[in-house]
Amino acid sequence: MQLTVLGYWGGYPTKNEGTSSYLLESQGFHLLIDAGSASLISLENHLDPLNLDAVLLTHYHQDHIADVGVLQYTRQLKRMDHDERRAPILPIYGHQEDQENFQRLTMERVTEGIGYQEEEPLTVGPFGIQFMKTLHPVPCFALRITEESTGKVFVFTADSGYLPEFIPFSQDADVLLADTNFFEGMENHRVHMTSIEVARIAKEANVKKLILTHLPQEGDLELLKAQAVNEAPDLPVILAEKDLVIQI
Ligand SMILES: [Zn+2]
Ligand SMILES: [Zn+2]
Repeated sequence: MQLTVLGYWGGYPTKNEGTSSYLLESQGFHLLIDAGSASLISLENHLDPLNLDAVLLTHYHQDHIADVGVLQYTRQLKRMDHDERRAPILPIYGHQEDQENFQRLTMERVTEGIGYQEEEPLTVGPFGIQFMKTLHPVPCFALRITEESTGKVFVFTADSGYLPEFIPFSQDADVLLADTNFFEGMENHRVHMTSIEVARIAKEANVKKLILTHLPQEGDLELLKAQAVNEAPDLPVILAEKDLVIQI
């Protein structure tokens, strides 16, 4: 499978680049994971938004859903191949613990909100998806996604403070994409993790590659990365950046 980073800033966009959004592809199936600010513009560099097959949302904070509304308008207004054909109804997967936000995922004849639950793994196209509730001010779910044809595993922490449960959840993953909003010294925060915490999870879970994302706008990102490398010296550590493509 192939992962493309569309946006990676935590909280708000800056420097012409957006917040959390990732395109995961396998066997011609295109899954958008979170749709943060500026993600639709970024997606267009890789894929016509009409060719998305599904969207999966980790939680309903704006830096993860800001572009859902304009994605719905795109699918409503733009026609396929210059003819009058509409794009098919797009499934948008989200949790149902916040009904007001969940209801917004459905737009008649355009998108359909589909609920997921922590204890019920889903199959979406070529992907098997497991969920883990994170430590965050609103309900939020980490994702463990297995490409069923190859057994390759991609884990995304979504937004979270540190939880020891991330270690079994990330066990032997080929790629761990981790919320690294904080530098060393902010450990045990209840909203986001630090460079040290995500490196420790990756190391103890025997992850093969760690990508730092949900990055802070202030501070030296090379220092953030160096802190993670120092904690897990044998592990390849990569800073998320716009248009980064990783083969998993
Ligand atoms: Zn966030
Ligand atoms: Zn959040």
